[in-house]
Amino acid sequence: MTTSDSCTFCRIASGESEAAIVYEDETVLAFRDIRPAAPTHILIIPRQHVGSVDEVTAADGGLLTKMVAAASEIARRAGVRQSGYRLVINTGPDGGQTVFHLHLHLLAGRHMNWPPG
Ligand code: 5GP
Ligand code: ZN
Repeated sequence: MTTSDSCTFCRIASGESEAAIVYEDETVLAFRDIRPAAPTHILIIPRQHVGSVDEVTAADGGLLTKMVAAASEIARRAGVRQSGYRLVINTGPDGGQTVFHLHLHLLAGRHMNWPPG
């Protein structure tokens, strides 16, 4: 499995750094964002290091589908599936990406504005 010692989210995935984990399976891990932007703000990551969504290929075995399926299950557990939620993937400098390990933001618990900032 590809990991990077210098990657914040790889350190969480390996257990080296702490995080409030809310879901895990063999492919993905999910934990609370350290600076929540909504009452529910969870990050869903692949255990394996992938730098951004731009690096996802058809050879990744449905990785994004697994991440989205995990998000749906997490929304159900958090009780926000009916009220709704927003999934966000920031990519690159203009996309606002600050951690370069692929992650899906699950935001919920308040009404989300559109367009995003
Ligand atoms: P990005 O801006 O790359 O889309 O999102 C990165 C997110 O990771 C931010 O919302 C930030 O608050 C969160 N984050 C950064 N470092 C850590 C950390 O060490 N632990 C947790 N739980 N969240 C982090
Ligand atoms: Zn990583």
